[in-house]
Amino acid sequence: MNDIVIIGGGLGGLFSGALLSKQGYKVCVLEKNTTIGGGLQTFKRNGFVFDTGMHVLGGFQKGGTLNKICTYLDIMDKLSIRDEDEECFDTITYLSDNKTYKIAKGKDNFIKTLSTYFPNEKNNLINYVNKLYDLTQEVDFFYLRKGSDNIFSHSEQFLWPADKLIDYYIKDDKLRDVLGYMNPMYGGVKGHTPAYVHALINVLYINGASRFNGSSQQLADNLSKTIKDNGGEVYSNCGVKQINVTDRHINYVVTQNDEQFVAKKYISSIHPCSLLQLFSDKKAFPKSYRDRLNEIPNSYSAFSVFIVFKDKTFPYINHTCYYQEDYGMVWKHGEYEKDAWPKGFMYVTPPQKEQDNYAQTMIINCIMSFNQVKQWENTTVGKRGQDYIDWKQKHINLVLDKMEILHKGFRNCVKYVYACSPLTIRDYYNVKQGALYGFRKDCQNIVLSQVPIYTKIDNLFLTGQNINLHGICGVPLTAVNTVEAIVGENKLVEKINKKYKELYGND
Ligand SMILES: Cc1cc2nc3c(=O)[nH]c(=O)nc-3n(C[C@H](O)[C@H](O)[C@H](O)COP(=O)(O)OP(=O)(O)OC[C@H]3O[C@@H](n4cnc5c(N)ncnc54)[C@H](O)[C@@H]3O)c2cc1C
Repeated sequence: MNDIVIIGGGLGGLFSGALLSKQGYKVCVLEKNTTIGGGLQTFKRNGFVFDTGMHVLGGFQKGGTLNKICTYLDIMDKLSIRDEDEECFDTITYLSDNKTYKIAKGKDNFIKTLSTYFPNEKNNLINYVNKLYDLTQEVDFFYLRKGSDNIFSHSEQFLWPADKLIDYYIKDDKLRDVLGYMNPMYGGVKGHTPAYVHALINVLYINGASRFNGSSQQLADNLSKTIKDNGGEVYSNCGVKQINVTDRHINYVVTQNDEQFVAKKYISSIHPCSLLQLFSDKKAFPKSYRDRLNEIPNSYSAFSVFIVFKDKTFPYINHTCYYQEDYGMVWKHGEYEKDAWPKGFMYVTPPQKEQDNYAQTMIINCIMSFNQVKQWENTTVGKRGQDYIDWKQKHINLVLDKMEILHKGFRNCVKYVYACSPLTIRDYYNVKQGALYGFRKDCQNIVLSQVPIYTKIDNLFLTGQNINLHGICGVPLTAVNTVEAIVGENKLVEKINKKYKELYGND
């Protein structure tokens, strides 16, 4: 008998497990893949390690929320993290006018740097960035403050479409486009993505973007160790295939290996639509709830290209690079298909533990709609057929063609190249349509995309990117919310802040 069984050993499952185990709960995490971590999981090819779903970090700087949570868990000093360059943590290159914009860290520098390209917009930029920061102040949980975030208790602009917010403050069309450059980091869609999501992600990175030295697996391993050190278990190759319920109460879960796991309470950190499929009793949830979850649109997916460079041929770049073919495309990335693809992407050279001036590897993430791979939707990993392999190769070449334009001689630097498609993301994470960030937040129907932590099943709670917010900041913060649903409101936030204050004062 465990106190808590957690379905899914990804970012949300491991943070929830580590936080609960620290409160004295006996936790058992069940992960379907051979390697734990979900978005933190890495894979190895030809001796080179690649991160899969965690390339740019935010919130790890002193006083940042992730720093506070990891300090509370006693793992902050065990993580090897490298800040991206202060004067330029991101660049955005437009091919159409051959222009590259640098983005600088910190509220004032962000405004100052962009004002050098758009001097007439300086005051508008000040008002726009102030508004971004104001919107984030409306979200207590973003600052690990006590309180309950009711989506309806916010200012009008909070739920505006993000593109409308930009257009309201900024008059220059090119600057409007540049300010949407982080869209691929939150699945931004014109007219749908709420301004608050745009604000939270932008402010998160403006305050301090960083990356893992080595690999993102280190965070998964440290969280797993915390759970085990506190008497819990983390099992890989242990996917849950069935959940047994009586009278809206879970009795036990059954894994792929036909083992049963029993607990007083259960947390699901997997996509809610994947969770529904695990219930043998279809009446476990009301039909209205099941229909609603199945109706929520998902964010778009991606085609990722993984490159190993020939020795000392390509420079290490300590910032994230965004590429756009032209202005006016950044809000429509999920729409470009077939020959129109890709219109833009982001790429990083992940640092090694001992990083010199040259990059060993590069990861290029190109937004892609699931439609592009729909014809193979009934296939599984490694068994998708030659036409799929050819399709992948064609798309690798399309990306390399663009890289060749951006960095002349790029192809000559490439030693090995691999790729993954929306199908890979779907099958590895068990996420509907390979959605990068799970359910799409939609300000046109905000109620639809609000999925509560509590469920109709009395001992089942939800966590992960489909609840609240995605990514390195949103998922751990949601884990705090989920844990508080079990241990008591504001109890954990209080402890996290207290420990940080004891160690570092009010910093
Ligand atoms: C290509 C890509 C790039 C990204 N880049 C970034 C980035 O740079 N920065 C950032 O902040 N975010 C990024 N993200 C988003 C980030 O990875 C996710 O928001 C985050 O990992 C979601 O956490 P989660 O716990 O909800 O899901 P996951 O981390 O996916 O964890 C879910 C886990 O559940 C497991 N599982 C599924 N079904 C079962 C089952 N039946 N039984 C047991 N286990 C099961 C899965 O295998 C998985 O390990 C990226 C995502 C992708 C796909």
